Amino acid sequence: MPLTLRRSDLLLSANPIAGQWCGAAGGRRFDVTDPASGAVIARVPDGGLVDAIAAVDAAHAAFPAWRATPAKQRAQILKRWNDLILAHQDDLGRLISREQGKPLAEGRGEVAYAASYVEWFAEEATRAYGDVIPAPVAGRRMLAVREPVGVIAAITPWNFPAAMIARKIAPALAAGCTVVAKPAEDTPLTSLALARLAEEAGVPAGVLNLVTASRERAAEVVDVWLADARVRKLTFTGSTPVGRHLARASADTLKKLSLELGGNAPFIVFEDADLDAAVAGLMVSKFRNGGQTCVCPNRIYVHEAVHDAFVDKLCAQVAALQVGPASDPASQIGPMINARAVEKIERHVRDALARGARIATGGARLPQLGGNYFQPTVLTDVTAGMECACEETFGPVAPVTRFSDEAAVVAEANGTPYGLASYFYTRDARRIWRVAEALESGLVGINEGALAAEAAPFGGIKASGYGREGSRYGLEEYMHIKYLCQGGLD
Ligand code: ADP
Repeated sequence: MPLTLRRSDLLLSANPIAGQWCGAAGGRRFDVTDPASGAVIARVPDGGLVDAIAAVDAAHAAFPAWRATPAKQRAQILKRWNDLILAHQDDLGRLISREQGKPLAEGRGEVAYAASYVEWFAEEATRAYGDVIPAPVAGRRMLAVREPVGVIAAITPWNFPAAMIARKIAPALAAGCTVVAKPAEDTPLTSLALARLAEEAGVPAGVLNLVTASRERAAEVVDVWLADARVRKLTFTGSTPVGRHLARASADTLKKLSLELGGNAPFIVFEDADLDAAVAGLMVSKFRNGGQTCVCPNRIYVHEAVHDAFVDKLCAQVAALQVGPASDPASQIGPMINARAVEKIERHVRDALARGARIATGGARLPQLGGNYFQPTVLTDVTAGMECACEETFGPVAPVTRFSDEAAVVAEANGTPYGLASYFYTRDARRIWRVAEALESGLVGINEGALAAEAAPFGGIKASGYGREGSRYGLEEYMHIKYLCQGGLD
């Protein structure tokens, strides 16, 4: 089915650098495909070293004027960007669905979610206060002021093509930073459309520069930014191995870093939980975007007293999920992003079955729909050593483990290098505080499966990285504190 947009000029195949829409040096391009069918949607620039340098040159040149632009004016530009994103919610939702595969309703939902960060940081831009510090000696005045760090580099993943870009670029622009960004190779089209709308909102030339690149050239682009001392901060969402590499490689230029890396979220259902609420929470947190989010529950622990009842209720809902292409309004689960993703899901299921797990529902590919579809699945009798309990499956598979003891299940939940999200359901107030404080993760859902919000700090601990996005803390990531001391005033 052809991709039809109300504004066809939002389907872009050029990169915004220094206010010009350019091809890659040498004219290289790569294909962006529909994960549902493999059909080519567009061919975008395959950027490399030359483009990466041009982007930093532009961002560096634009920084002094953008930094000097009053916060209120930057806020007004961001508010216009927010309005334009919402005005084009349908087109952007279609682009997201087509290149990423999430159902159209979820694509539109992501646009609203992305816009909420732009609006939030438009408001925060005018509130980047400092402090007046009481001087310990006479004749001095002491202040702490916040300043933008400078040029920032943003590297984003494919699972939220709009929200990941918005969550990084909006606070950077609010703070007075300028940006070079490389969107994920699977989903560059949404970010190009967002950049076009940013330009229309009044973001000046050179303030926001994008370089699209294929998987093969991603490192060439990012290596330039890692080595360039003019890039003062790197913000990355993606896998832990790539995050570690970026942290090591930015050591020479001592960049400020935020790394939002992989998770392995536990979801614990205690014996006193409201089971219907727990099932509803799991459905929303596990099966959103086909299970392809870094906060998706990856290990589900259910108390033995309620295990069978919980699994029955869960299976009834999972088996009823409609799987199909994002373009079909009835679809609730779309295709996985690519063949690599489906192979990993299949490997996890195979490994679990070989080690004693059982399929309660689902468990296989859906070849009649196309190569990248997998049935929504519930596994039971899952144990700690299985691959699906150690690594993020990133697919519509819910592996359930039975438990009997609170302290033991909390220890097992924490028995992972990762620490992004965790969830639990209970009605016991004392247990709520005990467990919430004991869980080792940056986000904790207590009787709640949908955590993310622009007003809340999002980010992990341990191997899930550091730094926070959203909330008032999200702005601080793009600023440093300067201490001003004036003497001789007595
Ligand atoms: P995933 O496996 O979900 O694609 P990645 O961490 O590999 O997660 O990718 C996230 C982002 O990091 C993408 O924009 C990708 O192009 C980029 N990326 C992947 N490998 C590298 C690398 N070696 N150097 C810099 N960026 C990379």
